[in-house]
This record gives sequence, C-alpha cells and structure tokens, in this order.
Amino acid sequence: MKRRSETPEGLRLFEKALAEARQACASAAGDAPRIHGHMIYRCRKCGRSWAMGLEYGVEDWGAHGRPHQPTPFIIACKCGGPAQDVSGVIPSCVERPVQPGERYFAYDKSGNKYAHGIASVYWPEAR
Ligand SMILES: [Zn+2]
Repeated sequence: MKRRSETPEGLRLFEKALAEARQACASAAGDAPRIHGHMIYRCRKCGRSWAMGLEYGVEDWGAHGRPHQPTPFIIACKCGGPAQDVSGVIPSCVERPVQPGERYFAYDKSGNKYAHGIASVYWPEAR
C-alpha cells in the first residue's frame, strides 16, 4: 500500500504546502533584521554551545551606520546555567536576514547609550 504522500494528490498537497512555506519565509525575510556575523556561547553548567547571530549595530563598531553595541558577557542557557562567549565575532561570508527560529542578539533601539544587544529568538509576526 502506498503512503498518502506518495500518491499524486498527496504530492500535489505537499508541493502546495512547500510553496506556501517558501513564500511566507521570503516575505518574512524582507522585514527580518540582518546579521553580519555570529558568536558562539557555551554554558558553564551543561556544556551546551550554540551560535548567536549579530544584528547590524551589534559588535560591528559602526560598520552598518548604527552606534556600536556590545553583546553581554553572560546570557542564560535553556538549562538555567550561565553561558559565556567563547569565540569572539565570527564574520559571515554573506550578510543575510536572520531566519525564523534563529537565536541572535537584536539591536537595542531604546536609545540608551549603554545598551547591549538583546539575546533573542527571531519569530516573524504571522500575517
Ligand atoms: Zn546549560
């Protein structure tokens, strides 16, 4: 017996859903913050490490026309432990929009001159 996804109707529905998802991503990417690099953070408690994207203005020393903001030395891990930068800035080969679900430091637009990048996960608003 064929699985539903292997039938012409199943395949048509799959391709339709894929096209819609691609369109939603392309449309969300138009407004998404752009990142110029990454930093790796590692948790001191559980040892997990992961990449944090850097939005324009965060750790770029004014290269994208915004006042420079540093990243925090310590951010919270999912386990509750303290995670610390272990890489310094790793520049991207291609600057790009942050992707849905990607972790990154958002530029703090409060105007506070002592502001840091804000540890965030990018989720575009549903339209
Ligand atoms: Zn942890």
